[in-house]
Amino acid sequence: MKTDFLTGKTVVIMGLGVFGGGVDTAKFAARFAKKVIVTDKGDEKKLADSIKELQQFKNIEFHIGGHQTSDFTDSDVIVVNPAVDENNPYIDAAKSKGRLITSQMEIFFQLCPARIAAITGSNGKSTTTSLTAHLLKNYKKGNVWLSGNIGYHPLLETLDQIKENDIVVLEISSFQLEQLERIKKSPNVSCITNIAPNHLDRHKTMENYCAAKENIVRFQNTGDAAILNAYDESCLKWYTKYKNTERKCFLFDREKLDSKLTSIFKLPGKANRENLAAAITIARCFGLKDEDLIESVGTFTSLPHRLQLVGTVNGTRYYNDSIATTPESTVVGVEAFSEPKILIAGGYDKGLPFEAMAKAISSKLKALILIGVTADKIEKCIRDTGIVPPIYREKTLQDAVNRAREVSSPGDVVLMSPACASYDMFLNFVQRGNMFAEMVQKLK
Ligand code: ADP
Repeated sequence: MKTDFLTGKTVVIMGLGVFGGGVDTAKFAARFAKKVIVTDKGDEKKLADSIKELQQFKNIEFHIGGHQTSDFTDSDVIVVNPAVDENNPYIDAAKSKGRLITSQMEIFFQLCPARIAAITGSNGKSTTTSLTAHLLKNYKKGNVWLSGNIGYHPLLETLDQIKENDIVVLEISSFQLEQLERIKKSPNVSCITNIAPNHLDRHKTMENYCAAKENIVRFQNTGDAAILNAYDESCLKWYTKYKNTERKCFLFDREKLDSKLTSIFKLPGKANRENLAAAITIARCFGLKDEDLIESVGTFTSLPHRLQLVGTVNGTRYYNDSIATTPESTVVGVEAFSEPKILIAGGYDKGLPFEAMAKAISSKLKALILIGVTADKIEKCIRDTGIVPPIYREKTLQDAVNRAREVSSPGDVVLMSPACASYDMFLNFVQRGNMFAEMVQKLK
């Protein structure tokens, strides 16, 4: 492995974080470097778990609670966490001294011996990525590694075990794609699920956001493949731009899926059929035929908290969509079902508007059960549409679940898709979803 750029050097890890990327990068650097400086502007308490994982390394120093310019000017290599905006005075100082600036993703792309399939987009990344890895389990020539943001394998820690004939399946963010521009590398098989405004607080403009996403296909070579959504405006533009170039371009189309495959696919809704179409197109790029996919399409179940079936009580199915923390994702959730629907919504107020959601869903609900801080706002927006389902206001999630059971009949769907963050009543969306699942289990 070509790790000379780290061997014997002083390496700064800028941004440790709590999601594992910083820890993975620091551990990897510590294997080769003389000294690793882990620096993060967050406080020690928040970072305690990450720091604990690194304490066994004698050559790691921690500079927590702020950054020191001298670390950046006097070290050889700066590895920047994708959560850090690189337009900052510390990176400028390092650049002025000619220091090497890099990132976990750049290191991975430079050292990975296997082909990389990566998925990006504004929605559906995690589902498409894990579905792709699931479909590829019938790939016979090597192992399939599900890594990256949703990964079960830390990127750099697994490098030693990855062989040339393996496939690495990655979810990749716009921030990581922005970093790959520095080394002008794109994945071998790239997929963009869709593009909607997102993270504009950091990218500033939609143009910058799209430019970062485009990096997933921009540097592809002969034999590589770009897989784009047939119903997405930005994807169609890129298809036109790239279709007669060295890479192969494919449009995936949820309406052209083989009915044999859709009939056995368990995930509900149009958006999930879109994710399936994307994942199948990726799997075909690795030589898999539809007959190799049949069984695995039927055995894939939802990721936790994403339109996840958590129980059936008296013929009513209960779905946990706790990850739906925006009004748009709740619309996707409601539209996924043709059955009579009882929606549980409401939560922490991020200041997002509910008017468009109310228009899209008010005529589609059998009942609406509201909890949390935003209950008033949502109720008003629903009433303003003029098509008003029965609305129930409840104090706790448990009350909401009890109410849902009371007003539901066999064949209905109860959907907990809050359109809001959870912080008013829960630690995070995971706790909210887990509690919902437990409450449903106890209804039996
Ligand atoms: P991401 O990783 O991009 O956040 P997920 O796969 O975790 O996306 O799905 C999160 C939520 O987004 C789902 O519960 C669903 O409501 C919605 N969603 C999933 N796939 C799509 C899609 N292809 N288009 C639009 N919305 C989607």
